[in-house]
Amino acid sequence: MTGSAWEVVIGLEIHAQLATRSKIFSGASTAYGAEPNTQACLVDLGYPGVLPVLNEEVVRMAAMFGLAVNAAVAPRSVFARKNYFYPDLPKGYQISQYELPIVEHGELYIEDADGNEKRIGITRAHLEEDAGKSIHEGLDKSSGIDLNRTGTPLLEIVSEPDMRSAKEAIAYMRKIHTIVRYLGISDGNMQEGSFRCDANVSVRPRGQEEFGTRAELKNLNSFRFIEKAINFEVERQIELIEEGREVVQETRLYDSDRDETRPMRSKEEANDYRYFPDPDLLPVEISAEYIESVRQQLPELPDAKKQRFVAEYGLRDEDAGILTASRAVADYFEDAAAATEAPAQLVANWIMGELSGALNREGLEIGDSKVSAAELAGMLSRIHDSTISGKIAKQVFEAIWGGEGTADAVIEAKGLKQITDSSAIEAVVDKVIAANPSQAADYRAGKDKLIGYFVGQVMKETRGQANPAQVNQILKDKLGN
Ligand code: ADP
Ligand code: MG
Repeated sequence: MTGSAWEVVIGLEIHAQLATRSKIFSGASTAYGAEPNTQACLVDLGYPGVLPVLNEEVVRMAAMFGLAVNAAVAPRSVFARKNYFYPDLPKGYQISQYELPIVEHGELYIEDADGNEKRIGITRAHLEEDAGKSIHEGLDKSSGIDLNRTGTPLLEIVSEPDMRSAKEAIAYMRKIHTIVRYLGISDGNMQEGSFRCDANVSVRPRGQEEFGTRAELKNLNSFRFIEKAINFEVERQIELIEEGREVVQETRLYDSDRDETRPMRSKEEANDYRYFPDPDLLPVEISAEYIESVRQQLPELPDAKKQRFVAEYGLRDEDAGILTASRAVADYFEDAAAATEAPAQLVANWIMGELSGALNREGLEIGDSKVSAAELAGMLSRIHDSTISGKIAKQVFEAIWGGEGTADAVIEAKGLKQITDSSAIEAVVDKVIAANPSQAADYRAGKDKLIGYFVGQVMKETRGQANPAQVNQILKDKLGN
């Protein structure tokens, strides 16, 4: 795909909807899913004579983001009007930030294809209001406009053109997604459009310093589509250039049904928008003390948490990454690990394995898990003290999930306690060997692999409850000469 002759260059503009209850410049609700046009007030609609008033919470959230990505939070930033006509923008302009954004010069780290850390620069992040939505579905020969979303606060996060593949772009976007959710400044819900991105894509001959002409891909609302759209676009551009034609700078729409991008409009220049400072809004001035107070509110961030999980719990790097991708999962892990003597890696394995399997199966978030961290810990303690085997534990887990009570209650009620009494195991082993004389002879003649067969038979006899290590040892003793 990225054949050695061409290098791919990608920069992302991510829009994260900020999780405020009211809009950025009005008191109207930001709740999702209301009846169309019930949540846009006169300020959102830009009626003559109304005045926008900045929601202080968005300043705090933007500053928090800036600090989290090691950026400069501007002591003074300015709202500007970006003028354009579109049916979903009745005011005729969008209030955004242009020359003086609230956040500049940030960075974060992703893992590249070789597993090395790679820095991605964040050019800026600025505050702006969202526009409304055009609705085409279910309407015959007409379009509807829903203005509920107008005035919803957005943080637009613009990266440097530092990514070199669709995979890196996804890794970067996931990282931003994780960070905004850790900070609690956005719910990151991609289905509801709370987290979306435009991808700027170009190609250049490998080794060339100058960037190629880029296309901007719009309408990317899932990680899978972003990857597909970028890869389609890269192929398209390479093909064009190899045919001796040129890439034109334009905005293209990704069509997920046809898995292709197609032209939407030629790229507008900044001066087409006639940006100017919004005369209705004062510059945003924030003091050093304010920024310090926001810094105090920062939670432990994903990278730091991941490193701590490796250092403190001895987890594998990759597992620590998975567990810290969401704050809720990380908290669940720590709660469970604190409540059991079982090794932390065992706790991690169960969360990434059985628990996440069960959650996926039922489409649940970890916050709605039917097995609490304490309940999981209770069960892991029973594996750790050899009351049950790991295999039986799966049965116990399902029972807890199904509401049958704690691990201890389930083990008791179903009689699942592991058999560790060696004389009991010996009796079963004797019976199994006696019932399988030819296999026993083969084993003794050197067919070592048959041990697995015998273990299986003993387990079957004991309904999986015999301690596997003991079964192995006793079988070897009895079968060996
Ligand atoms: P605009 O505001 O017109 O969209 P910007 O210069 O602010 O343009 O850039 C928008 C995004 O495009 C940024 O993320 C930037 O990194 C990226 N970008 C700029 N030039 C290129 C290029 N040649 N190839 C890929 N991405 C680019
Ligand atoms: Mg742009």
